[in-house]
Amino acid sequence: MFSCVGYAATAADARLGPVKLDRRDPGPDDVQIDILYCGVCHSDLHQARNEWQNTIFPCVPGHEIVGRVAKVGASVTRFHAGDLVGVGCMVDSCRECPSCREGFEQYCEVGFVPTYNGEERQGGGITFGGYSRAVVVDQAFVLKVPEKLDPAAVAPLLCAGITTYSPLRHWKVGPGQRVGIVGLGGLGHMGVKFARAFGAEVVLFTTSASKVADGLRLGAHEVVLSKDAGAMAKERGRFDFILDAVAANHDINAYLDLLKRDGTLVQVGAPETPLPVSVFSLLMKRRNFSGSLIGGIPETQEMLDFCGEHDITADIEMIRMDQIEDAYARMLRSDVKYRFVIDMATMPESV
Ligand SMILES: [Zn+2]
Ligand SMILES: [Zn+2]
Repeated sequence: MFSCVGYAATAADARLGPVKLDRRDPGPDDVQIDILYCGVCHSDLHQARNEWQNTIFPCVPGHEIVGRVAKVGASVTRFHAGDLVGVGCMVDSCRECPSCREGFEQYCEVGFVPTYNGEERQGGGITFGGYSRAVVVDQAFVLKVPEKLDPAAVAPLLCAGITTYSPLRHWKVGPGQRVGIVGLGGLGHMGVKFARAFGAEVVLFTTSASKVADGLRLGAHEVVLSKDAGAMAKERGRFDFILDAVAANHDINAYLDLLKRDGTLVQVGAPETPLPVSVFSLLMKRRNFSGSLIGGIPETQEMLDFCGEHDITADIEMIRMDQIEDAYARMLRSDVKYRFVIDMATMPESV
């Protein structure tokens, strides 16, 4: 074991603060990473505040990790000290079930090991995330990051990026399709960028007039204010695919009605309470309503490579580690363009 400093919640109502963490020494298949940047995901806040009632304290959040390899175990050949690498929402899985074998570790039938608040398979410790100076991860869950990209702006690709890339790829979004992205936050802004890069005609739906110019700048061809009933009515039956990134409760049927026959709406935002779905909207035009969870390791690598080729990263606001509580408060007000990223050089050297 070696110790390093992390930032943890010690109770649901406690502010995050520095703690000393024990990390396992790298085994034969492990990669030890010095963390440079970590994105701030809404899940971090839910978990730190125990809003899902399953938090193991102390909890060190963070699953949008970019860093450099410090050292590798004896069996690791794909990574070398100094490589720029990433770690997303998963650090392990059973590797034997049909989903794992097909590279869909996020749907592991036993359950994947989350990057924080999970149980390590290498000895039963609790996983601690990226709000930390270092992390040790099995090479099968470490990703190569293109050197040409800004590493801080790559961090959010590891959760927000892959969460939007995966469904757009799975449902084969591309040229000739009219595609809607609902909500312009951490997820939505990546959805706009990817849908545009895949060649679709992209329409952003937002509740706030202040986001129209940004939506266009990020790559949307049109922006529709979803509170404008007349504008919404004009869009009925016109969409091949809609990616809904809104985590708050909202009227899903208003968007299902925008789909063409056989069109698909995929939910990637996760409202806390069940959404009422109009079955009539589904059956009248054989519409599909689905969900999607992050992406598997092979697809996450594919996304990072794609981003390297097409020069795609997240729009970020860099913060110091000790600004995390302010960042959470601003995130709750959707006051971020469009993802906070922690500069890990600002982590205290000691506790
Ligand atoms: Zn996340
Ligand atoms: Zn599995």
